[in-house]
Amino acid sequence: MSEGEFAFYTKPNPAIFDTQLDKLQNIVSIRMKYCRDMQGVKDLFTSETMDDISSRMNKLNDLYRLQESNELSYWVCRLAMVSTDDSEWLCRAETMLYLYLTQSQQPKINNLERLTNANVSLYFPPHLQHLLPDYQKDKYFVCKDFELLSPLLQVHLYQVLNRVFIIKQNSMFETHYKTAKFISEFKSKTEICSQIFNDSSLDPDFKQLLLKTQMLKFGAVQMQSMKEQVKNGLTLDGLESLIKRGALPLCAIRLIRHMQKFNKLKYQERLQLTTYLYDAGMKVEDTISLFKRSFCANGKMTEDKFKKEYEYNIQHVYGNVGAKKGAHCQQCSSIIENLPSTGFAFGCPFRSMTAHEIEDMITTNIPYNDYPKLLANVRKPLDLKYYEAACHHLFQEIFEVGTGGSNPAKYSQAAMSKIKGAE
Ligand code: SF4
Repeated sequence: MSEGEFAFYTKPNPAIFDTQLDKLQNIVSIRMKYCRDMQGVKDLFTSETMDDISSRMNKLNDLYRLQESNELSYWVCRLAMVSTDDSEWLCRAETMLYLYLTQSQQPKINNLERLTNANVSLYFPPHLQHLLPDYQKDKYFVCKDFELLSPLLQVHLYQVLNRVFIIKQNSMFETHYKTAKFISEFKSKTEICSQIFNDSSLDPDFKQLLLKTQMLKFGAVQMQSMKEQVKNGLTLDGLESLIKRGALPLCAIRLIRHMQKFNKLKYQERLQLTTYLYDAGMKVEDTISLFKRSFCANGKMTEDKFKKEYEYNIQHVYGNVGAKKGAHCQQCSSIIENLPSTGFAFGCPFRSMTAHEIEDMITTNIPYNDYPKLLANVRKPLDLKYYEAACHHLFQEIFEVGTGGSNPAKYSQAAMSKIKGAE
């Protein structure tokens, strides 16, 4: 997790990188058809008995007698489809298919572990790593940020399929990727703030590079510790670092990630996020910028439209317009009761998401050195449907104190005051 933005997957057979493009495309199309046939119009695999799945896997093993084909198809599908509309469906389908296949190396399979849409995420979830063959448990490095890398990598003869680079891991590639990432991060950071935060999860080389360029551009560099960052409460500049530090509750992280992914939030989602940010101490300008940045990303909405349709509501929550009363964050007990329909991100994740989805959300957002302990502590009350207690256990495990609060803003205030005192 310390690599931050870098995407890690398990290691494919290096031979796949030498495969000809037409062979890749052919295998992809067979595999896609197979995945679609398996899914039909229903939830992937879930309507089947384990016997059905076993017999399908036996057939598929015959069809793909060569292990190479399976791996090839798996990796190529994963890499090739990340930029299409079907990518989420395909990545999930491929992950399930592949995990079934890795379990079914014996001629007859009788005892497959049941995989469902609910317990398989787009990437290899940590709780399913045991289903991978040992040699695949190593990590390797791959990049799907086509736009980010294309100017840097066009001089290299890397295989490209459907806008995705397929690249062997090597130090030169890694350096290039870090450089590209640096340029992008630097640009976004300096647009909002000329300081570089002392983020302990940043790769040391990357940080050095960041610092050097910062110095060239701005002269003296001001470093801020996490403690200094929280001095002014929750700020837009410090938001990502605070998420990584575990200072935002999962309900807020889910809303922020949902907004960043879909470039929008529905009314109820906006209200929950805005009242949280207001009570957690974020200034109204920062809250507006946070929403605007996502809503208007990639030209999805003009700033003018955002101002007309959304800024007023934010100002209203802050009590700056209208009746000037402002609105506040609900208690956890009320948020927990408010179950979202499919596709919505409001409410409490501990109530509305599966345990595996919660684990995924924690492990992808909050770097931590002992996930098994952290997740086990969260899991205990969650299994008993004690949602608020599961949230408190998460906080307790990270900060070694209780939240002392009963709403999401108090969670963050308690986290920030602990950080101020401890670091
Ligand atoms: S228990 Fe409260 S603070 Fe924790 S995730 Fe649920 S709503 Fe948010």
